Amino acid sequence: MTAATTPRQRLLTPGPTAVPPQVLAEMALPIIHHRTKQFQAIFAELGQQLQQIFCTKGPVLSIAGSGTTAFEAAQVSLVTPGSKAITVSGGKFGERWQDIYDAYASALGISQVKINCDWGTPAPVDQVAQALKDNPDASVVTIVHSETSTATMSDIKAIAALTAKSNALLIVDGITSVGAFECPMDEWGIDCLVTGSQKALMLPPGLGYVGLGERAVARLKQIDEKTPASFRGYNLDLRKWLKSHAKNDVPFTPPVSLIRAQKVACGLILEQGLPTVHAKTKKLAKATLAAFRALGLKLISSSPSYSVSGAYYPEGVDDSAFRKALRETHGIHIAGGQDGRGGKWSGKIFRISHMGFVDADDTRAALTAIETELRKAAAGQIKGEPGTAVKAFDAAY
Ligand SMILES: *Cc1c(COP(=O)(O)O)cnc(C)c1O
Repeated sequence: MTAATTPRQRLLTPGPTAVPPQVLAEMALPIIHHRTKQFQAIFAELGQQLQQIFCTKGPVLSIAGSGTTAFEAAQVSLVTPGSKAITVSGGKFGERWQDIYDAYASALGISQVKINCDWGTPAPVDQVAQALKDNPDASVVTIVHSETSTATMSDIKAIAALTAKSNALLIVDGITSVGAFECPMDEWGIDCLVTGSQKALMLPPGLGYVGLGERAVARLKQIDEKTPASFRGYNLDLRKWLKSHAKNDVPFTPPVSLIRAQKVACGLILEQGLPTVHAKTKKLAKATLAAFRALGLKLISSSPSYSVSGAYYPEGVDDSAFRKALRETHGIHIAGGQDGRGGKWSGKIFRISHMGFVDADDTRAALTAIETELRKAAAGQIKGEPGTAVKAFDAAY
């Protein structure tokens, strides 16, 4: 797809997201070698920018791979072998982090205390408190801040206040919160915060980031000393990444083009200022939910995230035909639903992103297309006159 494609293509999926032209241009520069002063200078600056975006004084590691690579690395590197992990899930991604510990169960001797809440509801803080009390031997808690599959936000501040008083480290999936809305790592006491490049950080897919707080750095060292023969992995062993990071380096060949482009994208975020970027995301989300309500759509979340909004289809709308019409007639790309253990939402819902390089006009275009196609597919079930969605969006924006 090129810029000349008609209609103009707008990517409003909750990852990957649109990439600004300055960032794309940076990726077209000639490849530089990574064991050079030039690369180290770029990498050092990116490291500082990421610390500002994560709101931490600790190191933020840049790992080749996707968000899942970065989260898996945190999971296997920070857990004390032979202990317990409290894993909180209310959607597809929370389930993925449970699956990963299941996959490593015998290698790490790790068992899980799984806390599952209904899809579309936030993590139950009281149940996490109880699990920490009942399992003083738990070494980590994993949780998703913004569960993209259900467009739901959880109260990480409250959960971090609990883990701070325990021996368990808090590993937070901030893949659709970091850079989108408030998630101040040090202030809240998050021990490990993970994100990926292709959501709010305005880069193509290919990099994952792991922010490490003081307790997490200490844990890496402690596991290394106490259990030298234990499972450490290789590429996913954060000790290697941390050691290199201290020298503005990485253990293996990094995607140099993505790293220099991420520096440009982070520069765009910091130039606007984090509070401005956060406020924009929140405004887009609130106005989009107002538009959904005005059309009479039922929201999928009781605790909506600011980075992604979702609604149930009215009776009779075919998800794949609907999203095909959005793409082909309007150039609008949004996401459908996903299936997991706790929910079967494929074909039942749709989701639209508010992260990164997206503005009110992109969102108005998407809402107009959504309203138009819903009126065609579910005539009589959509409230108001044509134009209702954008009118409600504008009134709320
Ligand atoms: C996208 C996403 C992931 C997975 O990231 P990948 O980069 O696809 O591995 C995990 N968690 C959340 C909340 C996400 O939105």
